[in-house]
Amino acid sequence: DFDLRGSASYTDADIDRVLRPKTFGDFSGQEKILENLKIFVTAAMNRGEALDHVLLHGPPGLGKTTLANIISQELGVGFRVTSGPVLDKPGDLAGLLTNLEENDVLFIDEIHRLSPIVEEYLYSAMEDFKIDLVIDTGPNARSVEISLNPFTLIGATTRSGLLTAPLRARFGINSRLSYYSHDVLATIVKRSADILNIPIENNAAHEIARRSRGTPRIANALLRRVRDFAQVKGTGVIDLDISQIALEALEVDAYGLDEMDNKILVTIIDKFKGGPVGLTTIATAVGEDPGTIEEVYEPFLIQEGFLMRTPRGRQATEASYKHLGRTPKPDQGE
Ligand code: ADP
Repeated sequence: DFDLRGSASYTDADIDRVLRPKTFGDFSGQEKILENLKIFVTAAMNRGEALDHVLLHGPPGLGKTTLANIISQELGVGFRVTSGPVLDKPGDLAGLLTNLEENDVLFIDEIHRLSPIVEEYLYSAMEDFKIDLVIDTGPNARSVEISLNPFTLIGATTRSGLLTAPLRARFGINSRLSYYSHDVLATIVKRSADILNIPIENNAAHEIARRSRGTPRIANALLRRVRDFAQVKGTGVIDLDISQIALEALEVDAYGLDEMDNKILVTIIDKFKGGPVGLTTIATAVGEDPGTIEEVYEPFLIQEGFLMRTPRGRQATEASYKHLGRTPKPDQGE
């Protein structure tokens, strides 16, 4: 009963909201993580305690924010959101923490971007549910210890490599989300089409899934654009034909690779004879940070068989030569 057909009055943000899974049951994929989280959530609820702090890491768009939301819903507690770069000083954090109700979830996105002073302030809050507040100013200034309600901190990061060891150690639950398989993405696309009340054929859902870079956020975005084509140029039904026409028109890569993915592969093949070549050398050549390549780009390229990690560095595979229309010979391009 959420019919968006032909309606111009819904923004992409509205659509995002209706598509976002609200319960563990709505959330597809990441089975192992979900299985564990369900147990931890049930156990915490049975004890009437706050869930242990949770660190969710993994590339953007894989469902970290969604999962944090679901956890609070399943626990039946409040959900507060902030992010690392927004928390400028300890006072900003103190304001949030003192407003939390018992067992609430506080979600900090981009937690690797907390300033060191705010991060340190978080330690005692996480460990003992206590913080020091400085009251009064000048010669009367003094610090008082305040007790907080027990709460669950859920931190999300795309760059877990940048987290300090003391912060990481304070999370009892630590889960890494991985890129989704085409099958799971196709399920997500079909669920989204269903919610948006737009008919979709099975092979079209798979085509969109294949080109979504293993990422639900991209799958939903492509679905929205393909739906535009189906409604304007097609019959209103998303079939394979209209999907292919739309995805070609949108210049979506046949394997869902994005610009940086392709740039990394082209660089390895054209500048370094297909590798093996070291991570930092690649990073310099493409103008991206080595950690981001390692944590965000590389895992997808490896999963899809475009890149190999060898003891001597990264190496392009036959599949990537083929994809880029290069002949797989070690001395080509010289
Ligand atoms: P992240 O916080 O990791 O960047 P989000 O939680 O914002 O990612 O997810 C991006 C979008 O993808 C969400 O709006 C949600 O609709 C969709 N999504 C993510 N994971 C799933 C999933 N497992 N099943 C269905 N939809 C998902």
